[in-house]
Amino acid sequence: MYFGAHLSSSGGIDKAVERAVDIGADAVQVFTQSPRMWRPTNHKPENIARFRELREKHLQGAVAHAIYLINVASDDPELWEKSTAALEQTMVIGAELGLDAVIFHPGSHKGADGGTTQQVAGRIAKACLRALKAGAQAGQAADGTNGPWLLLENSAGQGGTIGRNTEELASLVHAADDHPHLGICLDSCHWWVSGVDVGDRAVLDAHIGELDDAIGPERLRVIHLNDSKAPLGSNKDRHENIGEGEIGAGLHTFLNHPRFEGLGAYLEVAGGGDGPRAEDVAAARAMRANRPGKKKAATAIKNVARPEFDATPPSAKRTPGKAKAGAKPVAKGSAKGKAKVAGAEKARRAAKIKARAESKNKTDGKRPR
Ligand SMILES: [Zn+2]
Ligand SMILES: [Zn+2]
Repeated sequence: MYFGAHLSSSGGIDKAVERAVDIGADAVQVFTQSPRMWRPTNHKPENIARFRELREKHLQGAVAHAIYLINVASDDPELWEKSTAALEQTMVIGAELGLDAVIFHPGSHKGADGGTTQQVAGRIAKACLRALKAGAQAGQAADGTNGPWLLLENSAGQGGTIGRNTEELASLVHAADDHPHLGICLDSCHWWVSGVDVGDRAVLDAHIGELDDAIGPERLRVIHLNDSKAPLGSNKDRHENIGEGEIGAGLHTFLNHPRFEGLGAYLEVAGGGDGPRAEDVAAARAMRANRPGKKKAATAIKNVARPEFDATPPSAKRTPGKAKAGAKPVAKGSAKGKAKVAGAEKARRAAKIKARAESKNKTDGKRPR
């Protein structure tokens, strides 16, 4: 597993890669344009070239999150067309940037007028196929590839949103004729608030099994790694910094599930208010590096951390004996060293957590979902 972060591309899309390197991330997620405006950004060719070059040199993964205005589930033809065009455009720029994937929210049918589930799925699928076609054409032109994967992100289940469970996600993939580059982005916070206890290994096993059975394991391409401000099953989409929310130490279990091996886990957290920081990436890395040896250990840690939030990083609670058992290298040669650095930051981080708690609600609306 490698770790990414959603980062700003202000000052040029290539700057996002620099920012990822600066905070010690292995991968980057970007908006390719302002997420609250329809108008696409006109990227300079030199910025695109530099993005590709830096990514090649420094990162293991790069993805884009499409804008929030997109709603390809809509029964309003004008909004649907605008949304589909924006999704196509994101796939085209994604192909030019050489991205692995473009992630988007399947949208909302906004109540009973949206038509039957099948009609809604049909609308979403039609948009997906158009976007994938545009991405593939642009990929061929840019570097002879098929362009980025298009990924449906699981929703928090609020309102009339589509994609709140495996059944809905699978129906969308099937409606798009099981297109070979249509996949899934799984957001830990969204899963949690839609009712899946991602901190419980047995629950995870069941849901991952269900997803793999429904659409095939190769379609799960990206993880969004977020804690949640809102309780299990609340359908409220409110991200929280790693280990500081309702999932808390349960993210250990999520992060260390063997099924996620090799995937990129991208943080979409507020950090100190301006998005993921070095310490947020380190916190995620430490959760993975200090993976508990057994399910029993994970459950014990989880129970200690709940129901009230405990600021002590879970890894700090391990006894020396357990530490030995859990401390196996996880990635390439540098994993141990990185874990060490993460360990050194832990005390400082724990002290900061309290101070941060009071000021962190302010920028929520600007954060990626
Ligand atoms: Zn999202
Ligand atoms: Zn997300």
